[in-house]
Amino acid sequence: MADVVITTREGASASITLGSIDKFSERLRGDLIPRDHQAYDQARRVWNGHIDRRPALIARCLGVADVIASVNFAREHDLLVAVRSGAHNAAGYGTCEGGLVIDLSQMKGMKVNPTNSIADAQAGLLWGEFDTETQTFGLATTGGVVSDTGIAGLTLGGGLGWLMGKHGLTIDNLLSVDVVTADGTFLTASADEHADLFWGLRGGGGNFGVATSFRYRLHPVGPTVLGGMVVHPMAQAREVLRFYRDFSANLPDAAEVYAALATSPEGEPIAALLLGYNGPIDEGEKILAPARTFGEPIADLVQPMPYAVRNTLQDDPNAIHGIQRYWKSGFTETMTDEFIDVLVDGASDLISPLTAMFFFRVHGAATRVPTNATAFALRQEQWDFNVISQWTDDAETDTQIAWTRDLWGRIEPHISGSAYVNHLAGDDKPEKVRASFGDSYDRLVALKRKYDPTNFFRLNANILPT
Ligand SMILES: Cc1cc2nc3c(=O)[nH]c(=O)nc-3n(C[C@H](O)[C@H](O)[C@H](O)COP(=O)(O)OP(=O)(O)OC[C@H]3O[C@@H](n4cnc5c(N)ncnc54)[C@H](O)[C@@H]3O)c2cc1C
Repeated sequence: MADVVITTREGASASITLGSIDKFSERLRGDLIPRDHQAYDQARRVWNGHIDRRPALIARCLGVADVIASVNFAREHDLLVAVRSGAHNAAGYGTCEGGLVIDLSQMKGMKVNPTNSIADAQAGLLWGEFDTETQTFGLATTGGVVSDTGIAGLTLGGGLGWLMGKHGLTIDNLLSVDVVTADGTFLTASADEHADLFWGLRGGGGNFGVATSFRYRLHPVGPTVLGGMVVHPMAQAREVLRFYRDFSANLPDAAEVYAALATSPEGEPIAALLLGYNGPIDEGEKILAPARTFGEPIADLVQPMPYAVRNTLQDDPNAIHGIQRYWKSGFTETMTDEFIDVLVDGASDLISPLTAMFFFRVHGAATRVPTNATAFALRQEQWDFNVISQWTDDAETDTQIAWTRDLWGRIEPHISGSAYVNHLAGDDKPEKVRASFGDSYDRLVALKRKYDPTNFFRLNANILPT
């Protein structure tokens, strides 16, 4: 039988003998899925349907030993490597063309210790699964606002979520990470062990190794919290976003208010305020009242609900795998009237009912951590702003991407040149990637040189070792 054709780290074509692949497969507890495997077509898919890549091999790891074997096999054969956990990365870094996907999606072990409020969670868990375990004990930590997002990629990039004003970013609640580095070594990184690596893993993304498990500090949350959205017609979008700018800039830590321009399930263009309060319901009712009484909303859906449910309110259509997507993002400390005008004009011309623009407010505890305490350096109060273009028909892809790029070209002059690392697009320029690591960049380069000098982990918001 013919050898298997693969892509090397530098993008060249090479081959691996079937004998080598069989030996690798025998060392794994999980499945090794080559291109001719019946599960291949399903296994190679990621959340973003626009990312249509065909890796040579997918190693479905079941534990640390499988991850070590996969890293060693890839290094010995100079194979291009992608690391995948929740598969939610919009840029598609969780897969690759012709290389090896180290897939941790089946590693879902988790233990919550309600006595000391600490959780150990394997990298394949999704936030909905994580919340189910922690909320059983009335606990939680900052996590993603869409329940289907992977804990691993989200944590390593920083972690923005409903609890960040009160409890900081996800990484601010991270106590240790188990990681397999490029030379196949297993390490636990924490404040006491490999502290330099622990610093870099908190915001440096997937640059330094394969994280197999995370230890998090948890907090009492809910289980019932106030949440939901207030919906206005798009005709009111300018006034709604100006109100949002002023209201969200002065929130107490326990409150979160996000904003969206989108299309309702009934097909109506809308401007929505997404509200949440992480404290007593009656206190939240008072604090969030101005956002509910402002203007003339067409619906007020804010109500007490389980915290875990609040983390599913944005699931439709954002958790649906396979839809075509193109995502542009940036941080901004200001929302000028001119910027708002550009957005509202863009939203009045939405060419897909699934496309949305989102503002997430970064504030409170997330901004009080010193900028050099973790690799996540952009700690100022600001909005994470996103244009999330989504469509279902492949034939529309060129038009949809052109529409988004055109709009983004008009948005860019109004925002900073950086973005949340986990929201960077695959076609963002290297200067933007660099700016998104802020003052941490040089220290991250030194760390990359120490832990991954050959840039083995390169499919990510990449930090070059040189
Ligand atoms: C619908 C949606 C909602 C989102 N909401 C939020 C949100 O509320 N808050 C927020 O902060 N972000 C959010 N994000 C962004 C999210 O943090 C990133 O997409 C992140 O990459 C997802 O992680 P994943 O494990 O699902 O991704 P994957 O696609 O599996 O992995 C993406 C990349 O992360 C790295 N990575 C993943 N797993 C590992 C691992 N085990 N070890 C080392 N590196 C690894 C690798 O570089 C990999 O290429 C959202 C994304 C989407 C699509």
